[in-house]
Amino acid sequence: MKPPRRYTIEAVVIRHREYGDTDRIVTLLTPTHGKVTAVAKGIRRSASRRAGHLDLFTRSSVLLAQGQDMDVVVQAAGLERFRLLDSDLRAYGDAHYVAELVDAFTVDRVANTRLYRLLVRTLGSMSEATSMHLRAFEMELLDETGYKPELHQCLECGRPMVEGTNHFSSALGGVVCETCWAPELKAQPISNDALKIMRNLQTDPARIVRLQSINSHLEREVRNLMREYIVHRLDHRLKSVSVMRSLTPPGGD
Ligand SMILES: [Zn+2]
Repeated sequence: MKPPRRYTIEAVVIRHREYGDTDRIVTLLTPTHGKVTAVAKGIRRSASRRAGHLDLFTRSSVLLAQGQDMDVVVQAAGLERFRLLDSDLRAYGDAHYVAELVDAFTVDRVANTRLYRLLVRTLGSMSEATSMHLRAFEMELLDETGYKPELHQCLECGRPMVEGTNHFSSALGGVVCETCWAPELKAQPISNDALKIMRNLQTDPARIVRLQSINSHLEREVRNLMREYIVHRLDHRLKSVSVMRSLTPPGGD
């Protein structure tokens, strides 16, 4: 019988759960292999040398052996632990939200290097993350996973959007102009300012993140529009109670 194939990958632990008495199942996001689920056998024994290197939100170099049902973690060496998360409950909650969204928007073994970099960058700046940091993360995640909302042309008539009483339809995937709006579209009103912010989140998120003057009402409007859109896109994938719960608090009241 051939020995199992082994390979080393860089990875961030985005989810884990206890398995049996001493094992742990880890979900890893990797730049080269996409999302990988693996079992770390015996990791919960106190003497395990892999313990700590496979904690949540740790970036590690992981040696895996191909298994029949699931790959097995042979070795893990921590490269970066996003330590600022330790002392800040809000940052920890936000990091959970970020990791859960990445998990929910990805399928196994489809590599997306840009998404991996987005995750590392976002977790690295979590301690100073504002509401708009999180919105910028959401917009980039949507873009990287193929769900970028249309914010420039009406999805019904195709004309460029002009200022006015416009709507945003999660079901259609973007904006609907004043002329085309109808109650059966089940679209939410979107203010001119919210539309501007969301467009900027697509084109120049760094500028929006630096803005000091976004009022809380506008922040809430953008957060709610993004939330509804994300929930709609994920549809049945996002039935997890924990994800639903964590979709509410980040970045505001
Ligand atoms: Zn229209």
